[in-house]
Amino acid sequence: MKTTTGLRALRRAAMLTLLAATTGFAAAPMQRTQAPGFYRMMVGDFEFTALNDGTNLLPADKLLRNVTAAELKKQLAAAYLQDPVETSFNAFLVNTGSKLVLIDTGAGSLMGPRNGHLLASLQAAGYQPEQVDEVYLTHFHGDHVGGLLSVDERTFPNAVVRADTREAKYWLDTKEMNKAPEAARGQFANAQSHIGPYVASGQFQTFDGAAAGARGVTLVPGIRALATHGHTPGHTSYVIESHGAKLVVLGDLVHVSAVQLPKPAVGIRFDTDPPGAIAQRVQVFADAADHGYWVAGAHLSFPGIGHLRHAGAGYAWIPVNYGTQF
Ligand SMILES: [Zn+2]
Repeated sequence: MKTTTGLRALRRAAMLTLLAATTGFAAAPMQRTQAPGFYRMMVGDFEFTALNDGTNLLPADKLLRNVTAAELKKQLAAAYLQDPVETSFNAFLVNTGSKLVLIDTGAGSLMGPRNGHLLASLQAAGYQPEQVDEVYLTHFHGDHVGGLLSVDERTFPNAVVRADTREAKYWLDTKEMNKAPEAARGQFANAQSHIGPYVASGQFQTFDGAAAGARGVTLVPGIRALATHGHTPGHTSYVIESHGAKLVVLGDLVHVSAVQLPKPAVGIRFDTDPPGAIAQRVQVFADAADHGYWVAGAHLSFPGIGHLRHAGAGYAWIPVNYGTQF
């Protein structure tokens, strides 16, 4: 009697298992992907869209300068991060209503499959590369100019590409390349191969940021180029102003925010003029915190838009409050 009951129970359990398997109780497979990265907000009357090119792992211990290993570890731990730091690569799209302006272009094919997602993000944000009127480069490192080419073709066939005169003179000059250490020559080659096609087609123009000083150079109404030379010879930030609202696209004034915000004197190995890069960071951060306008950074965690607040001798980051209403 007992055995029969036991068998029935076993059969019932087997039936339930079969039922579960055929009616969707199996574990759902993990997707392990992220949505295309765009985040949109208004800056006055301008539509401002952060576009993510991907994230990549940055070995902070090898790259940061003026910081001890213990201090680095402490600052990363305080932000619940570890080395290598997963770092965002952001570009920014501004629709002024009459011009579509892209600031930086991501890494294209230069940094492997973790990067190169700018076009997918641009298209997910509702735009096509042919619609871009102007491309403004913060500087010529590969993670900012790589997206200018898709295979060997210009990604933005109708755009004028603009950058600081000093940046162009440095990176596009073969004599400068030959003077540079062997390890740095690849950066020159990347800049030349990606900007060259726009130079050849008459779509590349420079501006003299140093001569314009703190006023900057107005490129289209509402957008100025501001010389923040130091990270590279012609590194440039872009000031966007519309209807009383202001946002500054910092470029590469900061790479590892968890360390360089509390300690702005921490530099990075890629700085061509280390003291100059630190001085620009200190000055721009102080101004942004004093006046409370928006800032956006290429390597701040996506969307990389927020405010800086004074915090002790350094700064704290207040990321943009998520919104869907326009
Ligand atoms: Zn960069």
